Amino acid sequence: MDGTKPAGVRCRDCTVFEATSDGIVITDVQGNIVEVNDAFCRIMGYSSAEVLGRNPRLMKSDRHGPEFYKQMWRSLAETGVWQGEVWDRRKDGEIFPKWITINAIKGPGGRVTHYLGVFSDLTGFRKTAAELELLAHYDPLTGLPNRVLFRERLAHAMALARRASRKVAVLFADLDQFKPVNDTLGHAAGDDLLCQVAARLAGCLRVSDTVSRLAGDEFTILLDEVSGAGDAARVARKLLDELRFPFALGGREWRLSVSIGIALYPDDATGLDELLSHADAAMYRAKESGRDRFHFFSRSIHARAAAHSALAEDLRRAIDQGELVLYYQPQIEPVRGRLVGVEALVRWNHPRQGLLPPAKFIPLAEESRQLGAWGDWVLREACRQLRVWREADLPPLRVAVNVAAQQFEDSRLVDRIAGWLIEEKLEPGQLELEITESGAMANPERTVERLHEMKAIGIRAAIDDFGTGYSSLAYLQRFSVDALKIDRSFLRDVPEDHENAMLCAAMIALGQNLGLRIVAEGVETNTQLEFLRERGCDELQGYLFGRPVPAAQLDMLRRTTQSFLGSSSPRLTPGRGQRAQQANGGRTRVTTRRLRAAQPSQAPDGDRRRNR
Ligand code: C2E
Ligand code: MG
Ligand code: MG
Repeated sequence: MDGTKPAGVRCRDCTVFEATSDGIVITDVQGNIVEVNDAFCRIMGYSSAEVLGRNPRLMKSDRHGPEFYKQMWRSLAETGVWQGEVWDRRKDGEIFPKWITINAIKGPGGRVTHYLGVFSDLTGFRKTAAELELLAHYDPLTGLPNRVLFRERLAHAMALARRASRKVAVLFADLDQFKPVNDTLGHAAGDDLLCQVAARLAGCLRVSDTVSRLAGDEFTILLDEVSGAGDAARVARKLLDELRFPFALGGREWRLSVSIGIALYPDDATGLDELLSHADAAMYRAKESGRDRFHFFSRSIHARAAAHSALAEDLRRAIDQGELVLYYQPQIEPVRGRLVGVEALVRWNHPRQGLLPPAKFIPLAEESRQLGAWGDWVLREACRQLRVWREADLPPLRVAVNVAAQQFEDSRLVDRIAGWLIEEKLEPGQLELEITESGAMANPERTVERLHEMKAIGIRAAIDDFGTGYSSLAYLQRFSVDALKIDRSFLRDVPEDHENAMLCAAMIALGQNLGLRIVAEGVETNTQLEFLRERGCDELQGYLFGRPVPAAQLDMLRRTTQSFLGSSSPRLTPGRGQRAQQANGGRTRVTTRRLRAAQPSQAPDGDRRRNR
């Protein structure tokens, strides 16, 4: 600083002046800059040489009119200080807000000699505040309102509707085939798809409606001025149509559908949470009735939803109460019809509802993350049963146990199994774990890891429901499994159904080329048996040879049966229908159709549709 400046502004050697992160600018009474600190230079982008002697007007933006500056000078003259937000321009042209306090500095005679401005850059602060607002109320992926904002708007809409005696509709939309996108094309593609869906949904609505993403692939829509169910149905139809157009994902087309549940206020609920949960229950109903549709809430849906949550509660106690049972279904080799293995299939002996099949409770256990405990019980019980068979002097048998993808998340799973095998003194090769193709592909790298750990100690592995998922040949090889189990849907009406017959034959050939054992499941007729035998299928499982039965019943059969083939061989627990079929000398098409009709209730899990 040169000697022409008053002693009061000699600041360059003052540590505070330089160390502060606030910008400091000092002008003389004419408004010429006489001193700036480093922070000033950093914030404004000028060097001190560029601004010394110049007027701060240099940094003015066009944000403020002459009245603004007049008021500032008036305040400085009257009170000696002015404070406020000013938008200035940095050297690079960027306009930004700063918070500045200007003090008039007086000399010994009480006359103003300088002005001291101390300011901070508000850009970061503003950005953070805006970002916080965005995060609090919007979904970062799709940019749609999030749950919080949706609830705020819904509460507001309900209050207005109450006053004006109007109606509000809530649509709960859940995508039907979203998981396979993540599994096959990866999470980035999944995110891309969610954004495309969000844009299409928003495009179908009026500006006053709100579409929000609640979580994952769940969207909620608020129609705040509807005259009745008809309006809501019209919008739902539009949304369904819109999502049926294929999506472009990573250079390929992807088809999707959505299930929608609708609840109306005040018809279906008085409170906000109740309204949402009723729309949710209606959405589940839409899924149950075949997806790609909408459903209105009704009291009967409510009753079903209540029963569903009661069952979920019972489920928590099922293991401790000893209500789980394993049934075993024979797997035979097709040449001599010898029993080579069994598949363990869990049943829940519910105190009031009787014996429940897995389809009734596995999805529930999965939802409530109880599958780990259930899975452990099944594996432990299968090991115990293997030991009992060994001690009963029955020939060794392989037991296949189903494991869900959720169980593979547990890094200690294989260690625990190894412990049980040792406890029961079993050969690891007696145990085969079945993971469904879609389960294996849910997180293929983790599957590779678990299967590798299993292989290392000699446990076998099979891909279950093969043909229904989206695995690639590359993964099939990396999974290093021992067997592929052709999903039973491919056996339907084989060989009359040419497409199914061709697919079955192709899968058998594929397995043979990969050196894998091929198991066909769901064999119900002698014609299917012939077809599979001719093509060299390694093992067969199905009602033709026996339904799943408790261990004691299987024991009886093992002691009395040499071959599971041929009309003279005894059947497991032949029911009336089965006895009639046996008397028929084979399975008639009527029988097959009857069994097929029973299939939906036996669908193993929620998302087992074939993708052809
Ligand atoms: P899965 O592993 O594919 O088991 C075969 C299913 O097909 C069994 O149904 C079996 O009873 C049925 N099945 C066998 N042969 C025939 C046939 O000829 N015709 C027809 N229509 N069906 C046949 P189940 O016992 O109801 O089990 C359904 C699914 O539940 C299983 O499918 C499996 O994915 C799952 N599951 C069963 N037990 C367990 C378990 O302990 N853990 C896990 N994670 N899943 C299990
Ligand atoms: Mg299985
Ligand atoms: Mg299967």
